[in-house]
Amino acid sequence: MEYPESVSRRDFDDRMVPVYAPAAFIPVRGAGSRVWDQAGKEYIDFAGGIAVNALGHAHPAAQAALVEQAGKLWHMGNGYTNEPVLRLAKQLIDATFAERAFFCNSGAEANEAALKLARKVGHDSGIADKNRIVAFGNAFHGRTLFTVSAGGQPKYSQDFAPLPGGIFHVPFNDLSAAEVAVNERTCAVIVEPIQGEGGVLPADPAFLQGLRALCDRHGALLIFDEVQTGVGRTGSLYAYMDYGVVPDVLTTAKALGGGFPIAAMLTTEKLAQSLSVGSHGTTYGGNPLAAAVAGTVFGLINTPEVLAGVAARHRRLVAGLDALNQRYPVFSCVRGKGLLLGAVLKEAFAGQAKKLLRLAGEEGAIMLMAGPDVVRFTPSLIIPEADIDEGVSRLARALARFCAEC
Ligand SMILES: *Cc1c(COP(=O)(O)O)cnc(C)c1O
Repeated sequence: MEYPESVSRRDFDDRMVPVYAPAAFIPVRGAGSRVWDQAGKEYIDFAGGIAVNALGHAHPAAQAALVEQAGKLWHMGNGYTNEPVLRLAKQLIDATFAERAFFCNSGAEANEAALKLARKVGHDSGIADKNRIVAFGNAFHGRTLFTVSAGGQPKYSQDFAPLPGGIFHVPFNDLSAAEVAVNERTCAVIVEPIQGEGGVLPADPAFLQGLRALCDRHGALLIFDEVQTGVGRTGSLYAYMDYGVVPDVLTTAKALGGGFPIAAMLTTEKLAQSLSVGSHGTTYGGNPLAAAVAGTVFGLINTPEVLAGVAARHRRLVAGLDALNQRYPVFSCVRGKGLLLGAVLKEAFAGQAKKLLRLAGEEGAIMLMAGPDVVRFTPSLIIPEADIDEGVSRLARALARFCAEC
């Protein structure tokens, strides 16, 4: 018998540090894009574990990879390399601009590694004080002190002062402001090709092209935070491919392990040389269990069929949301790419995304917020069309109640 015999949502409030406000129900099982709670109620999962479960829940091949590796070798530490991590590194390098990979456990850690690499490269350049980082308003890069400081939402960082220095923020998609901020003392510019947490806001292609040119002119590294946009989420393997702008450093996490924690910082051979044995590391980074799952997940997603399927599912979900909005006109627009979509609430419903999420949950559909005014959809990249349709009709029921109550 398990101890204690039963647990409930109330226990969260009684036992957990209160940094989250989870839904009223507790999911206990998932299969594909459906999830069941303790009471056996079924949900359509449009959240995908916050853009993580890119192959849905309990994908048979990912499960098999996990079980197979679990029977062989879980962990050795970085005094030894391992076969799954070397295979995964080859997959990532073959598929992207990158020539070197560093593995860690979360998006924040990957960004932390990227920012530290940039500082080190700046330090090694011989140019005095080449240590400034330019980042963008409304950005999200994780919760370590460095990454939360690089993020552009002061509410997440200000109470943890003193913060690491040398980070300068300019408005997102404002190239003129970036031109003023970037100079020879800049070691890196860090940007999300599509701001995820900040409200599903795509960068303008000219903005990213302009940042590339600025970084080239001033010898700064261009870091793309693709923690949310990566691994097929936007319909291309990485968003930079679609934009046609190649970064110097790319961070990838969330979908990389399909639900098993793993992240990577990818870069060029030349830049990687700035780091040396002992200059950075993490105990679990690239452990065989995580790497085996990620290799399988990445291999399944990085196919023309799955990536084209993201575009098809995008069209179906957007069409469904547009039709809903005809009946219940609460959204001003639906934005984003692939299966990273944000439905923006009209002014009259500002701040009500959380309420709509609660009603949707009651009707059996799981979604996310991206700020108080945006309902975010980041489902499995292989969500069946029937589940999209069923989720949209559950959302319709939630919207009917939402409109009646507002
Ligand atoms: C989620 C996210 C992070 C942080 O990832 P964690 O795994 O939560 O540390 C960083 N950057 C972006 C763009 C994200 O969406």
